[in-house]
Amino acid sequence: MVDLKGQYSKIKPEIDSAIQEVIDNTEFINGSAVKNFQKNLEHFLSVKHVIPCANGTDALQIAMQALGLQQGDEVITSDFTFIATVEVIALLGLKPVLADVDPDTFLLTPENIEKLITPKTKAIVPVHLFGQCCDMEKIMDIAKKYNLFVIEDAAQAIGADFTFSNGKVQKAGTIGHVGCTSFFPSKNLGCFGDGGALFTNDDEIAAMLRSVANHGMKVRYYHDHIGVNSRLDTIQAAILNVKLKYLDEYNAARQKAAAFYDNAFKDNSKIQTPVRVGNSNHIFHQYTLVAKGVDRDALKSQLQEKGIPAMVYYPVPMHLQNAYKYLGYKENDFPVSENLCKIVISLPMHTELDKEQLEYISKTINEFTR
Ligand SMILES: *Cc1c(COP(=O)(O)O)cnc(C)c1O
Repeated sequence: MVDLKGQYSKIKPEIDSAIQEVIDNTEFINGSAVKNFQKNLEHFLSVKHVIPCANGTDALQIAMQALGLQQGDEVITSDFTFIATVEVIALLGLKPVLADVDPDTFLLTPENIEKLITPKTKAIVPVHLFGQCCDMEKIMDIAKKYNLFVIEDAAQAIGADFTFSNGKVQKAGTIGHVGCTSFFPSKNLGCFGDGGALFTNDDEIAAMLRSVANHGMKVRYYHDHIGVNSRLDTIQAAILNVKLKYLDEYNAARQKAAAFYDNAFKDNSKIQTPVRVGNSNHIFHQYTLVAKGVDRDALKSQLQEKGIPAMVYYPVPMHLQNAYKYLGYKENDFPVSENLCKIVISLPMHTELDKEQLEYISKTINEFTR
């Protein structure tokens, strides 16, 4: 699904010396590479504050803690996402309120969000799934209307651009009150272990995020709130500093591979290629097909047999996960996401796919579905 080794081999000298420098300086915790990466990412995203942290899941948790959400508060998010989004809501004693998604784009829709708002709703967590943005303009309008916080889960969309109706362009994760991302190795900007970050344009929120990520303290050994210990490792920051320079290139390489797939499948009526939204570009964290006239699981086994990795993101919707049964949802509550779990399949998608690989993958699929 990814080729991290191929990607590394192209920038090996740069990466190796960045790592060696951290070791030579023994700046293992909060070393200068962390601050440098923070500044560089702020510049890249055109956002006032980047707060690095240990991983994307922590980022979401820190955001919710820092915004002062209280036990029982309702947080609306997608039923079709990675578990981390829902997990942190539950972990903090907040109530996950799940919403169905758009059948073509797989994204949480403003309409589905608004229907679920109650006097207890405090926040919305749009997930920019697979690399394109939810309709942040409408979601921010809803948030304003009902006085809600918006925490963007931009773990799969770092570098994606959202365009407002007035032409203004903003990066994914910098539009809501807080944006969260992950630097898990397979993400579009991945490090060599775990990493994450929060983004905000609000000075006060930034101070709270920093404090919560650092044991709830602003002044050393004076703890104002309950916090966590969540730091971006200096070695990871040094690696990210190198890779950030290539992020636009990496996202363009993914888009190029996606365009190849699109073209290869354009006459195949049995599968639907990824539908693009009008107001965001797509940076293809995943290239996800919808199997229409073909058995998804049979297609997956066929690909496996031919040596092609393919994955199902995601096989079970959030509301049917065993751990979340206590929320009281049942089958058929979210028909779109339930159906997507049965028919989606993600193809290999990364920066190192060459023409031969793309041809082999698409030919195998086209032959099987003919
Ligand atoms: C990867 C991911 C996360 C969590 O990131 P980690 O760094 O693995 O904790 C959260 N949300 C989504 C949508 C993700 O894809």
